Amino acid sequence: MDSFERYSRQILFAPVGMEGQKKLAAARIAIVGCGATGSVLASLLARAGAGYLRIIDRDYVEPSNLQRQVLFDEADAAESLPKAIAAARKICALNSAITCEPHADDLTPANVEELLEGVDIVLDGTDNFETRYLINDFAVSAGIPWVYAAAVGSYGVTMTVLPGETACLACVFPDSPQGLVETCDTSGILNSAVNLIASIASTEAMKLAIGARDKLHQTLLSYDVWTNDHAAISAANPRSDCRACQQREFIHLAGEGRPHITLCGRNSVQIHERQRPVDFGEMTRRLSAHGNVRHNEFVLKFWREPYEMTLFPDGRAIIKGTTDTAVARSLYARFVGS
Ligand SMILES: [Zn+2]
Repeated sequence: MDSFERYSRQILFAPVGMEGQKKLAAARIAIVGCGATGSVLASLLARAGAGYLRIIDRDYVEPSNLQRQVLFDEADAAESLPKAIAAARKICALNSAITCEPHADDLTPANVEELLEGVDIVLDGTDNFETRYLINDFAVSAGIPWVYAAAVGSYGVTMTVLPGETACLACVFPDSPQGLVETCDTSGILNSAVNLIASIASTEAMKLAIGARDKLHQTLLSYDVWTNDHAAISAANPRSDCRACQQREFIHLAGEGRPHITLCGRNSVQIHERQRPVDFGEMTRRLSAHGNVRHNEFVLKFWREPYEMTLFPDGRAIIKGTTDTAVARSLYARFVGS
């Protein structure tokens, strides 16, 4: 296929044009989190011809994701494919002309520099403020623009951060905002709220990639698709005493106070205390005496009532059926190792 013919309708849009399309082809974009928001971001940017997408996600596909996570299908859920892997497969199928690099990893202070190295733009597809503050600290310290995006219930909010120019996430939310700590696991979510906010965020990424910075919205922009309430609060300027972008205290990058075990919602606990390469064949033989086990190239699933453990090749695990970290830790120690 003619590499630019497929983008002809986008090139016809004058602010993009052939020059913009070429810049987009040269763009290197990381998407952190590939659930509902990340799916839309990745899909729109891949179709638009963003030349390189790095997709980082720690989770695997489940049937309850399919209502809103538009890159995935029932086969992905049946296989419990890591979202990063499933997303990369879909993206290759919808645009083979671009590069998509999947990482089935949890973004942490220990790996953030490696995982976000060499990209021009970082996009937020996460579902938690812990990771967003980490992205903010990294992006502000490295001077890389990033786009915050969040949606819960019928409400979505987004803001584009240009380090050193506009407000950063810590300017606007010095601490985790109350009310936004609700998650789609507790408050539900409308797929249209996600699609709206991710569409705005992906367009901001396109403006950044083609150098149309004067068109960025420069606000904390929110919209509720159910009540129709909407707001745009100026975020054009940093807060003078901001910890991150003014005082340059990158506490989240330093990993201060970060728990080694994090809850990731939906009645589950993630264990990622240390790297422990796992041989799935050997682990399957070991675990089969204790419950049902199944694995593919990417994940091993182990069912032992009432728990379900999903193990990744580097030893990270998500244990479903409890929110008690002690229970999860002991299950992991007993069956994987301490
Ligand atoms: Zn700031």
